Amino acid sequence: MLTQVPLPEKYHTLSLEQMAERIGAHKRAFGDRLVILGHHYQRDDVIRFADFTGDSLKLSQLAARQKNAEFVVFCGVHFMAESADILTDDSVQVILPDLTAGCSMADMATLEQVEEAWAYLTDVTDEKIIPITYVNSAASIKAFCGRHDGACCTSSNARRILEYALDQGDKVLFLPDQHLGRNTAYAMGWPLESMILYGPDDNDFSDEQIRQAKFILWKGFCSVHQYFTPEDCAQVRRTDPDRKIIVHPECCWEVVQKADLAGSTEYIIKVITEAPDGSRWAVGTEINLVHRLIEQNLGRKDIRLLGKPQCLCTTMFRIDLPHLLWCLDELAAGRVVNRITVDPATRRDALLALERMLEHVHAEPVSSK
Ligand code: SF4
Repeated sequence: MLTQVPLPEKYHTLSLEQMAERIGAHKRAFGDRLVILGHHYQRDDVIRFADFTGDSLKLSQLAARQKNAEFVVFCGVHFMAESADILTDDSVQVILPDLTAGCSMADMATLEQVEEAWAYLTDVTDEKIIPITYVNSAASIKAFCGRHDGACCTSSNARRILEYALDQGDKVLFLPDQHLGRNTAYAMGWPLESMILYGPDDNDFSDEQIRQAKFILWKGFCSVHQYFTPEDCAQVRRTDPDRKIIVHPECCWEVVQKADLAGSTEYIIKVITEAPDGSRWAVGTEINLVHRLIEQNLGRKDIRLLGKPQCLCTTMFRIDLPHLLWCLDELAAGRVVNRITVDPATRRDALLALERMLEHVHAEPVSSK
């Protein structure tokens, strides 16, 4: 994990109103030279300053369109800022307000581990393996996929990208989120028996099972979405049978099977926004987004979090007003802090994987019943 320099003491003594006023003043002074991007899981006091909000796919596309900006301040996590750096022109400087805002899932697949797995898997089988990585991964993993005819995907377009991968090769190595890989492949009609789970440190399958498998799923997971359990769904069914359950496909397969709908963050927002007044929902995704959906639909739709309120993306939560103000103060003083850059070779190969994904952008649910 990267380390963040401690902020000067003055940032801990300002009131929320003082910080908000100064951030607003910086935004006005920078004008079009500055773009602030905010992920849907971001806290309310920060996201109100975002020029654009979205999930990782939408923000990737928005970043790619920032031709006039000099600075993109990314209120998200590290892999998102890396993608923004890869997709923007060299003249655009991408800033992450707190360098410790990482993603535990992305950290579960390192380049060294993936290269070791690749050597092993390609030694066991002559069939062509296409590596696909969820965008929630390090730039080095995206570059690995780019070098090996693979691509990135998001939860919006995972199905389309898996179809693409199976057109290009015989098997898929899906990184790093086992759940998105399993849920998507299953929704496409592939049985669980066609998938094996690859852990960099512990594997208990035979070479023959690798040869038989269609999908090799990396043993990664989201530390937020893992909290939703089949029992949470069962509890809703028992106590409130008319309430619909909608979840993110980073939830485990059993939860997705018990839900009514599963899809990306953008999909969840769209379904709930377009749902009729009076509808009732239990939502299985990050708590900041669920709270925002509750507030936006207050008095019209009955929305609650699925399960217990422990589903906070704690790393994204590290981006707060003091860090946002600090990096803008530094920019105003002519100093670029917390710039995220991807080296040219990694950038070139990762761009291949990202561009293959963006060619196939198609927002769709992972499964619906
Ligand atoms: S919600 Fe999960 S996958 Fe998304 S950034 Fe947080 S830890 Fe990573």
